[in-house]
Amino acid sequence: MIRLPGLIDPHVHVREPGQTHKENWDTATQAALAGGVTAILAMPNTKPPIFNNSTLDLALEAARQKARCDYAQFVGAGPDNADILPSLAPKAAGLKMYLDSTFGELRLNDMTLWQPHFEKYPKDRPIVLHAESRTMAAGILFAAIYDRPVHIAHISLREEVLLIKAAKERGIKVTCEVCPHHLFLTRDDIPAISHGHPGRGEVRPRLATREDVKALWQNLDVIDCFATDHAPHTIEEKDSDSPPPGFPGLETLLPLLLSAVDHRQLTMDYIIEKSVINPRRIFDIPEQPETWVEVDEQVEYEIHAADQFTRCGWTPFEGWKVKGKVTKVVLRGKTAFQDGKFFVEPGYGRDIRKS
Ligand SMILES: [Zn+2]
Repeated sequence: MIRLPGLIDPHVHVREPGQTHKENWDTATQAALAGGVTAILAMPNTKPPIFNNSTLDLALEAARQKARCDYAQFVGAGPDNADILPSLAPKAAGLKMYLDSTFGELRLNDMTLWQPHFEKYPKDRPIVLHAESRTMAAGILFAAIYDRPVHIAHISLREEVLLIKAAKERGIKVTCEVCPHHLFLTRDDIPAISHGHPGRGEVRPRLATREDVKALWQNLDVIDCFATDHAPHTIEEKDSDSPPPGFPGLETLLPLLLSAVDHRQLTMDYIIEKSVINPRRIFDIPEQPETWVEVDEQVEYEIHAADQFTRCGWTPFEGWKVKGKVTKVVLRGKTAFQDGKFFVEPGYGRDIRKS
């Protein structure tokens, strides 16, 4: 048995408000605890999106009632909310900017709409960018121009990790995260994930080439955090004619990482650095007292969606053999999860921006 600190996942789509048939604050935080994650940062592209005071309060109230682990909620950058977001910064996880995929209130059609956010959002609060490939380079330029930190979400490409490496070497304040599915899957795995339903392989950023994945592993030192980008959609949605992109990931994160330790691809120190120490520093998350995760590193088992607590009912890692199982999670002195059962009620989770 090994004991780890509670993991922090800085990138989770809780789906509440608005899409609770996919997930909600209760099921997402059950999935988190079952995966050894004791704090999640929730993304703002809900329905409605979280982009002003009333929508932020809507999400935080749902979280207050239902969350079983600790949490904070991102606000999203839109074309006309740069003036109001700084006043919300103390109660937000940070500011999320979607620089590539754009929709609704969080649409940022051109770079003049990025500028006021970089100018006005408090420099000591995190800005997270969804920015792929050359858009990522533009985002890093903004970090340099405005001399403020940015965190690049879910990097997946060789060109991205190499550019971030070069930017870091020159003192630009950039950090980044990688998702397990971009470390353990390539585009060659899509047929096996799909089982004849190509929508199941859809995720943004897309699964990359073997060379990209190899470059991520070779440059793990450059990567600051592991993040799941837990993005649940139901199996019916994934198998429909217009499949939404996204994979669930909260319950597979730690078993995959522990298996990589078993295969000597990773060390336990790396897991703690990238899932606890660095996210705590980058996102200014207070230490969770009396909080730990117990893992039986010798247990071998297969991943099955049927065993998971996420509402979405599927996983791209179905049938994968892993070694290392979360047996118990203690959160702030209380056993929250043990042997597949929860011992804290919805509402036990705390807003980490309030403590
Ligand atoms: Zn995401």
